[in-house]
Amino acid sequence: MRKKIVAGNWKMNKTATEAVALAAEVAALVKSDVPSNVQVIMAPPSLFISEVNKATEGIANLSVSAQNCHEKASGAYTGEISAPMLASAGIPYVILGHSERRQYFQESNAQLAAKVDAALENKLTPIFCCGESLELREGGEFLAFVAQQLTESLFHLSAEAFGQVVIAYEPIWAIGTGLTASSAQAQEMHAYLRQHIAGKYGQAIADACSILYGGSCNAQNAAELFACADVDGGLIGGASLKAGDFITIAKSF
Ligand code: PEP
Repeated sequence: MRKKIVAGNWKMNKTATEAVALAAEVAALVKSDVPSNVQVIMAPPSLFISEVNKATEGIANLSVSAQNCHEKASGAYTGEISAPMLASAGIPYVILGHSERRQYFQESNAQLAAKVDAALENKLTPIFCCGESLELREGGEFLAFVAQQLTESLFHLSAEAFGQVVIAYEPIWAIGTGLTASSAQAQEMHAYLRQHIAGKYGQAIADACSILYGGSCNAQNAAELFACADVDGGLIGGASLKAGDFITIAKSF
């Protein structure tokens, strides 16, 4: 049985007061409404992670995630946060390779491989994002492109280490655009990636890997996406900023 996961990427949104209020609302709703087999994750701006983490105390299926970490453990990297720092603050997950990081901060597959290593060495679960641009989708090369992102950033891992990774397929053309991949498009990619993983690590590890869909997933379309055989949940941007919508998504399995 694969883990069902709904993770909310708050990106650069919310002030301190708003973050604490949203976390409290989400926590109350997870407690009352979300089945215990669905893991809900909030990824607030790093400044508020520890405060938001407090809201998850005592709720087994609610956790926090960082939105990024540096590949080095410490040093002269102004503005950055390392994996050991996150681990020391009790943060269990870290999103790596979001398309906005790839686009605005030029994160490469090789750099992401180093970030994945840093996360795993510190017992953080990476939520590894991958996905193609509209140009690649229209050019027809999208399946191979996304598979290559996994190969270059993850396939150096041992089978045991790979087993700790969560994957989020996020077509760039669907992120924040209101354009969602159809359930058929999502299923095609997820099944392809699972097969790609099986080719490297074997079927059992591929079958155990949670692959989330992200890209304009919302309270209206989540159920159809999550009904796909190889879609194990979602990485949610805009719709994670409203507790009610986010929890509706978490209840959409
Ligand atoms: C995201 O940025 O991870 C995302 C999926 O955003 P949105 O849901 O707003 O498209």
